[in-house]
Amino acid sequence: MSPTDSFIPYGRQDISDADIAAVVEVLKSDWLTQGPAIERFETTLMDATGAAHAVAVSNATAALHIACLALGTGPGTRVWTSPNSFVASANCALYCGATVDFVDIDPATLNVSISALTEKLHHAAAKGELPDILIPVHFAGEPCDMAAIGALANQYGFRVIEDASHAVGGRYGAHPIGACQHSDVTVFSFHPVKIVTTGEGGAALTQSADLAAKMARLRTHGITRNLAEMREADDGAWYYQQIDLGFNYRMTDIQAALGASQMARLREFVARRHELANRYDRLLEALPVSTPLRCDKNYSGLHLYPVRLDEAWRRRAVFDGMRAARIGVNVLYIPIHTQPFYRDLGFAPGDFPAAEDYYARSLALPMFPGLTEAEQERVVSTLAGLLA
Ligand SMILES: *Cc1c(COP(=O)(O)O)cnc(C)c1O
Repeated sequence: MSPTDSFIPYGRQDISDADIAAVVEVLKSDWLTQGPAIERFETTLMDATGAAHAVAVSNATAALHIACLALGTGPGTRVWTSPNSFVASANCALYCGATVDFVDIDPATLNVSISALTEKLHHAAAKGELPDILIPVHFAGEPCDMAAIGALANQYGFRVIEDASHAVGGRYGAHPIGACQHSDVTVFSFHPVKIVTTGEGGAALTQSADLAAKMARLRTHGITRNLAEMREADDGAWYYQQIDLGFNYRMTDIQAALGASQMARLREFVARRHELANRYDRLLEALPVSTPLRCDKNYSGLHLYPVRLDEAWRRRAVFDGMRAARIGVNVLYIPIHTQPFYRDLGFAPGDFPAAEDYYARSLALPMFPGLTEAEQERVVSTLAGLLA
């Protein structure tokens, strides 16, 4: 490393002049929130995915929360998700008073293991403890086996929320992630390290008009101005009714304008991520690491490029060495069930060994559209030096 080497983050937004102009335009307009930019952004999401409805909200955690509520999650219901995810994938169920459990991952895909899921469902059915909802997570952007999940959902009668925070712009088979072909709701995140950004933001997509109407109400206090949803006749043009206990999970028009402008470059962003990932695959061939699998029937959103070290014991020194060389590697994810809060709920290290083994070896390399090839070479040569 030379002292002039600049810091390379693991993820970074890509903001164009057009994005800036779109935000400035909103600032000069009459609406900073609840204006026309929200619908424009929601339309870009529907157009990109084929979902019939999109509900833009303040962040993906909020989207997961209202998706859970719209599907009836509450005390006495059970939600299962992947331990290899951000804590929000499980917390959303606890917000509703539900109980949470996890399904271990497939070490090849790093997504929920279909065989572990099948087996766990079989046992749960025998005990009368089937889940009400499964939240599969498309880890790093690689789609889960949604056809298998959809078939199990039909067989055992649970509902499905895709946590697609990593997978905006990806495809499962021929279908864009968000089309909800095998799920009830799909959730996106627009945090700046994700694929497109609104600063903070999220969305819940669905093909169901009923779920969309529920989620739109929950976004804004459970209030409706739609006569058809009201219990009795209205008092006048000012009238609204609160019919659910909702929240203020609204996205501002400032954010939505940025999102709509960013969505125009979605294909370009994901294509650039694929270029960089394919180049990483080649550059890393000789190193004692395994590179992330990408199933050729699908198209990953490639939010992350996590490599796995052959020797887990070297991970800490390699991580520290990369950071000392001003390379912003990251480790994703600390298995949710090993967090102190979840241990207090009864989970323990050892419960989901594949997720724990993956955590012990993983190192996410910088991956974002603005990463240059020279920076990528610096990442790989620094890693090679540390593993030599
Ligand atoms: C980022 C992320 C979230 C939360 O997204 P926010 O928009 O920050 O609330 C949830 N799940 C996964 C898998 C994520 O990566």
